[in-house]
Amino acid sequence: MIEVKNLVKAYGKHFAVKDISFTINDNEIVGFLGPNGAGKSTTMNIITGYLSATSGSVSVNGYDVLEQPYEAKRQIGYLPEHPPLYLDMTVKEYLNLVYDLKKTKLPRGPHLKEIVQLIKIDHVYNRLIRNLSKGYKQRVGIAQALIGNPKVLILDEPTVGLDPKQIVEIRNLIAQLGRNHTVILSSHILSEIQSVCERIIIINQGYQIADDTADRLSANLSDDRMVMVRIVAPPREAKKMLESIPGVVDVQVAAIHTNSTVFKVEPAAGTDISGAVAERAIAKRWPILELYTKQMSLEDIYMHMVDQDPALLDIHREAKAANNTAWQADDDQAEPQTEQQEEQDA
Ligand code: ADP
Ligand code: MG
Repeated sequence: MIEVKNLVKAYGKHFAVKDISFTINDNEIVGFLGPNGAGKSTTMNIITGYLSATSGSVSVNGYDVLEQPYEAKRQIGYLPEHPPLYLDMTVKEYLNLVYDLKKTKLPRGPHLKEIVQLIKIDHVYNRLIRNLSKGYKQRVGIAQALIGNPKVLILDEPTVGLDPKQIVEIRNLIAQLGRNHTVILSSHILSEIQSVCERIIIINQGYQIADDTADRLSANLSDDRMVMVRIVAPPREAKKMLESIPGVVDVQVAAIHTNSTVFKVEPAAGTDISGAVAERAIAKRWPILELYTKQMSLEDIYMHMVDQDPALLDIHREAKAANNTAWQADDDQAEPQTEQQEEQDA
């Protein structure tokens, strides 16, 4: 079990982590999701004892990371964002070195053999790490984390920089390890987290903005559904009309076409608004080109949170600029931001 209480990490006046608390039970697979700079690596570095916190506490299987660092660290296998691989060593030499550094008590030969087979690196065991593909280097990184048989695995962006085939392989490997380990993994890519984790902690600007199962995160916010409507109408007037419908929580412009606009309308939980949307558009003689309901993705949830907190919007923009493969589903979000800006300017 991992218990993190009111964690704060400041670098001078800058807070990398402002207030993070959570408990992770044995054999859970939990994802830290958040854009670049959110505070994921900082949190992981504190849990693993590589960084000290400014305030707050962390305990791992009952061992306080500050007071009993040796015992706490022994509970954890860590794959940092940049794994400390020695490129001029063979996989065998490197894993033996890690075995020694960790002062591992398990029988060397059988223990390393078991890991190497599990991670499927037996056929590259005598190769120089330098000559391995990125996917295999990452496997070696995971293998070193498993030495000493720790109960808890902390994997920082384990699939970053891998090609799609390697991503699937590493993802399957993590799911397999999750059967008898407690796993925390981080990513700024939603689909990564969604595919392996039962529970998601969304971190942004050093704050924990959500902690729930993927399913419940989505259900709590909108009864799982968004109403998508494409109408031929003046965009601003149409947006106002949609916002005035009872039970509507939020209206976003999803896309602008030559003479029509697609709106994403979020209903309050348990409310059906499609009928009202159609009635009102017809009353205004605005042709409806499309009207359907769509499952709310975590992407939508994230954007919803971002919309409610202008500070998050900047972070989101930065993250998007920094990595254009992340948050891809939101590519059409540029429009509503512009419109919001216009409204603010007006
Ligand atoms: P993530 O892993 O979510 O991308 P990090 O935990 O690496 O985020 O960083 C969180 C914030 O802390 C960022 O704003 C980053 O610039 C800042 N930060 C991280 N390390 C340092 C450091 N050594 N000194 C100053 N600021 C740092
Ligand atoms: Mg990071």
